[in-house]
Amino acid sequence: MYRIGEGFDVHRLESGRRLLIGCVDIPAPVGSVAHSDGDVLAHAVVDALLGAIGEGDIGRHFPPEDPRWKDADSRIFLAEAARLVAAHGGRVANLDSTVILERPKLAPHIPAMRAALAAALGCNPALVSIKAKSAEGLGAIGAGEAVEARAVVLIEVSD
Ligand code: MG
Repeated sequence: MYRIGEGFDVHRLESGRRLLIGCVDIPAPVGSVAHSDGDVLAHAVVDALLGAIGEGDIGRHFPPEDPRWKDADSRIFLAEAARLVAAHGGRVANLDSTVILERPKLAPHIPAMRAALAAALGCNPALVSIKAKSAEGLGAIGAGEAVEARAVVLIEVSD
C-alpha cells in the first residue's frame, strides 16, 4: 500500500540571517526569518512526511512557541518525521521537491542538499529529488524577500 504526502513552507528573507536550505548553508547576503533554523526545504519535507501518515503538521509536533525549538536544527524534525513514518510501517519510496528562490542560484548546492536530506531521513540519496526555480522577478519571492519550498513524498507501507 502507498501513502502520498505534500508539504509547503515559506520564509521571509532578511539580511544578517543564515540561509539554510536542505540542511546546507548557502552563502547569501540574506537568510530566513524563523524561530527554528529556518530551513524552508526541510520544513516542507517534514510536512509531506507527516501528511502521508496522517500525523498533522510540523507545528503540531514542534510548536514555534515552544522555546525548545528556538534555533532548532531541522535535522531533528526530519529524524522525528522519519521515525514516525517507520512507526507507521512505512518507508520512503521517493521524495520530490522544489525550492523557489530568486538568488543565489542553488544548482551548485543540490548534490550536497540531497545527501544531507537523505542522511537526516536515513534513506538513499537516489530517492531524494530537489529542483530549484527562480520566480522570474515576480512577487515577493521574485523581489528576493522570501523563499518557498514544496515537497511531495510517496511512502510504501507494509502490512
Ligand atoms: Mg518553516
